[in-house]
Amino acid sequence: RAGLVAIVGRPNVGKSTLLNELIGQKVSITSRKPQTTRHRILGIDTREQVQTVYVDTPGLHIEEKRAINRLMNRAAASSILDVELVLFVVEGTRWTDDDQMVLNRLIAAKKDVILVVNKTDQVADKEKLMQQLQWLGQQLNFLEIVPVSAKNGKNVAELRALVQKQL
Ligand code: GDP
Ligand code: MG
Repeated sequence: RAGLVAIVGRPNVGKSTLLNELIGQKVSITSRKPQTTRHRILGIDTREQVQTVYVDTPGLHIEEKRAINRLMNRAAASSILDVELVLFVVEGTRWTDDDQMVLNRLIAAKKDVILVVNKTDQVADKEKLMQQLQWLGQQLNFLEIVPVSAKNGKNVAELRALVQKQL
């Protein structure tokens, strides 16, 4: 089996870090500075039973005044269209208008979506995270909701297994 999986989310949520962890290689540049990923990066994870091709999208950019942002929005939007599965990455500690915009696009795209709640290592208040997860779970009929820490590799193997199960 083989499948194409898009990693989407607003800038800085940890998409590139997650891609690198998922495939165990540093193919995508990660940075504290938003908008480091300027074009699509592919990561290929070849296992015995299943080959997964991940697409690390440039974040969606709400501000469309700059031509580069318009282009990046198009690249990100098109990469959502031709994949079988979307990993929607958000931060465990905050929800912004940009997250909402990406969510709206996913709802419109009618794709299978796994919600990845990243940076759980930064979450001090577990109770608040649980409430956040519950609220997020009501926004779209996600296949799965998976909390991870991409930076520490926490729960990433479990996420990979869930992805492979869907393909
Ligand atoms: P992208 O813009 O969505 O591709 O985000 P990046 O992967 O470039 O990461 C943005 C910043 O968040 C970088 O400074 C990363 O080191 C950091 N980051 C990514 N994942 C985690 C995580 O699980 N925990 C913490 N604390 N920081 C993270
Ligand atoms: Mg990136």
